[in-house]
Amino acid sequence: MDINEFREFGRAAIDFLADYLENIRERPVLPSVEPGYLHELLPTEMPKESENWKDIMKDLDSFILPGLTHWQSPRFHAFYPSQTSFPAIIGEMISAGLGVVGFSWICSPACTELEVIVMDWLGKFLNLPAHFLPSDPGNGGGIIQGSASEAILVAVLAAREEKVRQMKKERPEMSEGDIRAKLVGYGSIHSNSAIEKSGLLAATKMRLLDSDENSILRGEIVQQAIESDIEAGLIPYVCIATVGTTGTCAFDKLEEIGPICKKYNVWMHIDAAYAGAAFCLPEYAHIKEGAEYGDSINFNLHKWMLVNFDCCAMWIRNANALTESFNVERIYLDHKYQGDSKAPDYRHWQLALGRRFRSLRVWITLRTYGQDYIRSYIRKHISLANLLLKYMSEDERFEVAGSSLALAFFRLKGDCSLSKRLLDKIVERKNIYMIPALFQDKFIIRFVICGMDPQEKDIEYAWNEIKTVADEMFEEIKKEQKEIVEESQIKEGKEIHVDNNNNEKVIFEKINEISDVITRHFDISSDTTTEKTKH
Ligand SMILES: *Cc1c(COP(=O)(O)O)cnc(C)c1O
Repeated sequence: MDINEFREFGRAAIDFLADYLENIRERPVLPSVEPGYLHELLPTEMPKESENWKDIMKDLDSFILPGLTHWQSPRFHAFYPSQTSFPAIIGEMISAGLGVVGFSWICSPACTELEVIVMDWLGKFLNLPAHFLPSDPGNGGGIIQGSASEAILVAVLAAREEKVRQMKKERPEMSEGDIRAKLVGYGSIHSNSAIEKSGLLAATKMRLLDSDENSILRGEIVQQAIESDIEAGLIPYVCIATVGTTGTCAFDKLEEIGPICKKYNVWMHIDAAYAGAAFCLPEYAHIKEGAEYGDSINFNLHKWMLVNFDCCAMWIRNANALTESFNVERIYLDHKYQGDSKAPDYRHWQLALGRRFRSLRVWITLRTYGQDYIRSYIRKHISLANLLLKYMSEDERFEVAGSSLALAFFRLKGDCSLSKRLLDKIVERKNIYMIPALFQDKFIIRFVICGMDPQEKDIEYAWNEIKTVADEMFEEIKKEQKEIVEESQIKEGKEIHVDNNNNEKVIFEKINEISDVITRHFDISSDTTTEKTKH
């Protein structure tokens, strides 16, 4: 490919994306392909000879697009958003084109320094405690990691090494191996799978503590766990509090957990992967109360702040904890400005050596939109989630189970198998996409505002879809119920009399009464209620 072809291909690619994003509502949000579909369509060997970009674009249309789940569709309501935006797309492209790798300052001073600057902008925009800000005179600082999982792992590893250093001083009689074997960290049963995984990767115990009835981790539980573990000879070293759990976007009580972590010298990491974006709204200041106790915090710009994946902002109270833990010297990595706080060598702050120029995307995106627009955008998402609940509150078959930020969750009244069956049917139709979670031991359906530029009409569409499928399902159940009643009455030799004029409500009450029978009959086992939300 020569430079002229590059220009043509590039323009065509932008046009392709503009068309795709402009018309994204026309595509079913979920694909209709079976596992292995692509193996049947593509050659088993890479091409021997060069191919023309136009042919490649054609195949993108024919083979790749049909196999996509459309995360940017405003009809995607699953997981949490993973949004992109026009400036972020351009930023991605430019950073790919510049092709720099910024593991130390000298590798590309602008790459490092722009990251320090945007992390300071963002920290101020989110009203984070000053100790995290690069501009604060303390040892705080920010870095862009790929994902929340990486940020959490880095925090857990830094906490582990700090604790090992501390214990070696305090308990010189203990061997390092002994210290490491006794380390224990904490999250909650509602924390993201990344927390459990960070414990595995750090090779320490990671206990998932019970939350309260609203899925919130409370200080008292953390205190009990820490005290009983110390009693048992273990060494508590980290606690991950979640602001915005993945299931129901619950906010752990930082202001309760923080002082306990402080008392026992346990590192508090705050995982605000999704909800952190709402820190920019003064009316949500309460959700980060207690963040001043935090030793580190992460939030994903790639979830709810208009920058495409991968882009996770992470701040740390004491960046020295990272350099002390992860500094590996090599003569080829040395440069004369090492240790300058304005020029951090980010290689010490992350898992990999090489790093992308992610701050460019952030800088272009934040400048293109500005603070006011981003605040109004976050508020709009929250109000759209509430709009669904408003529609839903007028339909007595549904129970609004709760809402938090731009996540609403609901269920059908009655047995959990009804909500599960409803969700299965909705997902099968592929017009909208939602996933379940557990709340107070009940199966709930999560509805999150996602995608590019969601509008009121999208919420209306979603509500119509949910309602239509519910109508159909209750029709089916009515028929099935009639058959069961008929069957059982035939067996018992009784007269059959089913009133076809029963209205929905009566039928609905009937269904609740015999939901046990239905569950057994259709094998919609309530086992599913013990399934955890996976992400
Ligand atoms: C999404 C999410 C994660 C995982 O984020 P990645 O960036 O995909 O690693 C972790 N924690 C919470 C609370 C999340 O919502």
